[in-house]
Amino acid sequence: MQEAMINKAKQLLADGTVDRVIGWKRGEFAYDITPAVFETAEELEKEFVFDDFTAANVSKYLVKESKKEGKILAFLKPCDTYSFNQLTKEHRVVRENVYIVGIPGGPKLDAEKIKAKGITGILGVKNENYTLKIDTVYGEETMPFYEAILDKCATCKSKKHVVYDELIGDEGEVLDSNRFDMVEKLENMTAQERYDFWRGELSKCIRCNACRNVCPACTCEKCVFDNPNSGVENKAPADSFEENMFHIIRAFHVAGRCTDCGECSRVCPQHIPLHLLNRKFIKDINSLYGEYQAGEDTTSRAPLNDYKQDDCETTVVHERGVE
Ligand code: SF4
Ligand code: SF4
Ligand code: SF4
Repeated sequence: MQEAMINKAKQLLADGTVDRVIGWKRGEFAYDITPAVFETAEELEKEFVFDDFTAANVSKYLVKESKKEGKILAFLKPCDTYSFNQLTKEHRVVRENVYIVGIPGGPKLDAEKIKAKGITGILGVKNENYTLKIDTVYGEETMPFYEAILDKCATCKSKKHVVYDELIGDEGEVLDSNRFDMVEKLENMTAQERYDFWRGELSKCIRCNACRNVCPACTCEKCVFDNPNSGVENKAPADSFEENMFHIIRAFHVAGRCTDCGECSRVCPQHIPLHLLNRKFIKDINSLYGEYQAGEDTTSRAPLNDYKQDDCETTVVHERGVE
């Protein structure tokens, strides 16, 4: 796949369809694959990477990149296309300045799950019949492939590309997803158990802001949390109330716009399952206003930005099983 992508990028650069390419290159470690912009065939040949660790969604980078001169080629996995559509709908990207090549999605790997098996010094991986062969500085190790995949891929909602100019591979299909299972488990807890769960998770937060910075729904030019008068702009002044508030406020801000891309949880250095908070909002919006998938299209009105006469009364939220 990597070779096909490099060839496609070189062709589109050479025939003048695009001026730049956004893809990924290797960072310090084999599993540290980072978005990067390429301008020449030589750069692509030398540094472009697409492998089992290439999970990062490049859609958000297009907010800035699509406003520069010329056209940029973006390789988008199915989940990334939902983010891109949502950004188009919110007028955050300039659609005509982006040439989208849809590429197959995951499952992608989580290096932390490999390390949790005591496997370190990772140099590279190979998936052989769903056994992961891991080349390390200490020799070869193996583990079942599916035990190493990212949580966001384990609960994938769709392999369908919802926007593209051309495809490498198939358009793909929406999947029957189990993504709300854990949300249901949380709903079935008592209020105290749920509070303890979230306090346990959110108290680990170091307020690095990575979740906000990676989130395609968080593209405000001036974020409320960059206001030093807010009292919640960093970890130092935070007590447990403010610690919760950062996450609750952010979840409200992206409600109805979060595409469930899972990037917030993927990048969290404290492994906080933030997506569960947003998924709870998605589940509630679905049950209160009808099934809605943010980013599926660029024309529908989001339930929370819309009003219909048969919309539920807001009080219904308080009537439902609050313990
Ligand atoms: S990425 Fe994790 S640690 Fe960083 S601010 Fe978000 S929740 Fe906190
Ligand atoms: S809140 Fe998380 S899952 Fe939702 S769009 Fe942002 S990064 Fe993706
Ligand atoms: S947390 Fe709210 S204000 Fe900050 S970038 Fe996200 S949506 Fe915008």
